[in-house]
Amino acid sequence: MKITIQNIEFSYNGVPALENVNNRFEKGDFVALVGPNGSGKSTLIKCLNGILKVQKGAVLIDEKSIQSFAPNELAREIAYVPQSENKKAILNVFDIVLLGRKPYINWKPARHDLKITSEILSILHLDHLAMKDFNKLSGGQQQSVYIARALAQEPDILLLDEPTANLDIKHQVEVLEILKNLSQKGITIIIALHDINTAIRYASKIMMLKDGKVFACGGMETITEKNIENLYDIKVKIIRDDNQVFIIPNGL
Ligand code: ADP
Ligand code: MG
Repeated sequence: MKITIQNIEFSYNGVPALENVNNRFEKGDFVALVGPNGSGKSTLIKCLNGILKVQKGAVLIDEKSIQSFAPNELAREIAYVPQSENKKAILNVFDIVLLGRKPYINWKPARHDLKITSEILSILHLDHLAMKDFNKLSGGQQQSVYIARALAQEPDILLLDEPTANLDIKHQVEVLEILKNLSQKGITIIIALHDINTAIRYASKIMMLKDGKVFACGGMETITEKNIENLYDIKVKIIRDDNQVFIIPNGL
């Protein structure tokens, strides 16, 4: 599935948070949205799945505007993992992930829905938590459960808002490897990341946002000292080692 961002604009109470944002992402792209706090990453993600309605422009899946999808139809195309916050849910882990099957279920889950739920729990190494009360999990475990729920939707496009912020380093790598794998299977991943080094390591495209505008977008050629310094207003040094690139802050 191709997702096209067509000159969108979004304002909160008349204050612009996104202006003239354009882009097109292809099936299997792994796109990292980066930029300073308040640059519009979360707002853009919410515009892409229709939680926020753009005031100008449009978001198209293939050639069809997201506004013209029925909610269940859209949920089969796009899944969203929100930025982590203190979440409460009086359900066990299995049931939360099963909720991801809702767009496919008429009035009760079929055997197929239960099977997919179990498979996803196992892919994310959550099987042992399946019957646990969601509220008793750590922040990182809760975040993994929300990722599992999004995968249960079997989306073509997966949007994630800083999904690794609460995870320890091992679980960060685990989640990013899973996402990379999904993108190789043709799922389009669009992920807001505050760690530019993680973005460089995993993404096939980097979209830099600053003050609600696209500052730069593309592949590794966008990773220059000048771009990163202007994006974050800091001094940096770029270190290249074999095929890896690291950005080291070097003072203000
Ligand atoms: P990021 O995710 O990059 O940190 P956001 O998309 O959350 O940025 O925010 C972009 C801009 O929109 C910021 O200036 C922020 O203060 C503003 N903003 C975000 N959410 C709201 C809201 N619910 N009401 C009013 N302004 C908001
Ligand atoms: Mg945000």
